[in-house]
Amino acid sequence: MQKTAIYPGSFDPVTNGHLDIVERGLKLFDKIIVAILTNPGKKFLFPLEERRAMLEESMKDFSNVEIDTFDGLTVDYASQRKAQGILRGLRALSDFEYEFQMALMNRHLYPPAETVFLTPKEEYTYLSSRLVREVVALGGDVTGLVPEAVRARLEARFRKLTHPPTR
Ligand code: ADP
Repeated sequence: MQKTAIYPGSFDPVTNGHLDIVERGLKLFDKIIVAILTNPGKKFLFPLEERRAMLEESMKDFSNVEIDTFDGLTVDYASQRKAQGILRGLRALSDFEYEFQMALMNRHLYPPAETVFLTPKEEYTYLSSRLVREVVALGGDVTGLVPEAVRARLEARFRKLTHPPTR
């Protein structure tokens, strides 16, 4: 039987840590669906279509990866896509508490899907989308931490925010 996992997240924006997790996940699953959370109540730096474009661009060399969007419960989406796994990355102890609660709640809501935690390469264990956004906002260089196309978009976005067009 073909094994599918969904990899849910905000991906605001995608980082090399996310790519690392997908690459590892592909050793365990036949297919990975990267599922972007649309959550209208949450404020994102990049609009959904841009987060999706960055994911598509950075995952174009992976076969068996699909990029999709969802709202509502992760488990409802997993069930709808007939996924056996929910893939999550575990970086540090600080991730553990939240991820553990989430995994148990998801199991309670939908037992057929197993949450699978993978650990990225050491150099990505301190990396998060939030930190990347903060560093670029303050003029720092994130080369090597995000795909090049993402770095360019981040820099453009903050240039736009710091120098709004004048009329
Ligand atoms: P969320 O909004 O759920 O935090 P993210 O897009 O930031 O979404 O992350 C999605 C998943 O990827 C989460 O499981 C998160 O722990 C994992 N992740 C994020 N950054 C990294 C990284 N640098 N290394 C490993 N896993 C990561």
